[in-house]
Amino acid sequence: PYHGPRAAEIVRKRSEFLSPSISYLYKNPLNIVDGKMQYLFDEDGRRYLDAFGGIATVSCGHCHPDIVEAIINQTKRLQHPTVLYLNHAVADFAEALASKLPGDLKVVFFTNSGTEANELAMMIARVYTGCHDIISVRNAYHGNAAGSMGATAQSNWKFNVIQLFFQTGMHHALNPDQYRGIFGSDGEKYAKDVEEIIDFGTSGRVAGFISEAIQGVGGIMELAPGYLPAVYRTIKKVGGLFIADEVQAGFARTGSHFWGFEAHGVVPDIVTSAKGTGNGIPIGAVVTTPEIAQVLTQRSYFNTFGGNPVCTAAGHAVLKVIEKEKLQENALVVGSYLKDQLKALQDKHDIIGDVRGRGLMLGVELVTDRQQKTPAKTEILHAMDMMKDMGVLVGKGGFYGNVFRITPPLCFSKEDADFFVDVMDIALSKI
Ligand code: PMP
Repeated sequence: PYHGPRAAEIVRKRSEFLSPSISYLYKNPLNIVDGKMQYLFDEDGRRYLDAFGGIATVSCGHCHPDIVEAIINQTKRLQHPTVLYLNHAVADFAEALASKLPGDLKVVFFTNSGTEANELAMMIARVYTGCHDIISVRNAYHGNAAGSMGATAQSNWKFNVIQLFFQTGMHHALNPDQYRGIFGSDGEKYAKDVEEIIDFGTSGRVAGFISEAIQGVGGIMELAPGYLPAVYRTIKKVGGLFIADEVQAGFARTGSHFWGFEAHGVVPDIVTSAKGTGNGIPIGAVVTTPEIAQVLTQRSYFNTFGGNPVCTAAGHAVLKVIEKEKLQENALVVGSYLKDQLKALQDKHDIIGDVRGRGLMLGVELVTDRQQKTPAKTEILHAMDMMKDMGVLVGKGGFYGNVFRITPPLCFSKEDADFFVDVMDIALSKI
């Protein structure tokens, strides 16, 4: 039942030595041993088109030669002097990253993951404002540590332990969900809920608001237009900070902009980033203004591995590759093309309830009944297995687990898009 002899052995070791909470994407899990740009290879040398990109993490392409070279060169020279000494790799990447942000967003803190970045961002907002309450959006995913699991607003991702600690001061606003939401695409109407939460659920002041521009884990949900600017005004009125979680939507993925929030015409107070920042190397970042950053001098803030030279060399190389290979433009051109093709597929297959997203962050929601929007939970699993057997890997998400998540490396080509759509077409025809 396994793809290759090593796969069976790994399944046995995983079941014995690794957490039972780790699941497989496929009935017959793949043993992926090599990666090259938008392709992955299993132990038998079989090639797969990767339309998931390690969950929107592989921004430039698997094992991109420039990034590999930057990592190797830095690894050979110095891996860990600690940030208590000077090193150019760290400062150079901070400068380059800050140059990609608008306004006064100029001060960078490096972390090892998106969770850590959001934990730090929320702590900064709390210390800066002297308030505790934070508002996040229902259906959001912000991480899995004490604070960020509180901000995450999907029961599937929240453990029922020390709930108070996770939840204190955390409020979850109505999701401006254009597909299932009660106000359709009217962002301002959903934004009223944030006002009501502040008026009726807090002292009238909050530390901040945190949101993705496109919910990734939540099933590629683009926030209804008008929502973020309206919430921004509300949050500013009560002295809170606006935190943009760009862990998935950032780093050129949406094509039209480098950061997801930019499509909504707002400038946040704090931006968090991870995943695509390192093209697979663990690095996260929190970027804020000099004034806000100053609050961390009240005590010592230190992170052993955050911003080490190897990871920052990788991050800097990612930025250079995005520029050199015009990957943001490619995400826009290929992403728009792919979205059009997927919309055409929707006309052909009743099971496709919705096609959405921006750039190379696209979602295809499967439903068994378009009127009722009944999630096609089993059908999507069959389709994914069939697509894998035809050489295409795609992700899955959404609260009901019925949304294809298409977040490939940004070097994805039009030919890849055509192949992807053909394969999805065949799989859906067989259901
Ligand atoms: N924010 C968003 C939007 C995410 O998608 C994720 C990861 N899925 C995180 C934060 C947490 O990042 P990490 O897994 O690196 O801790």
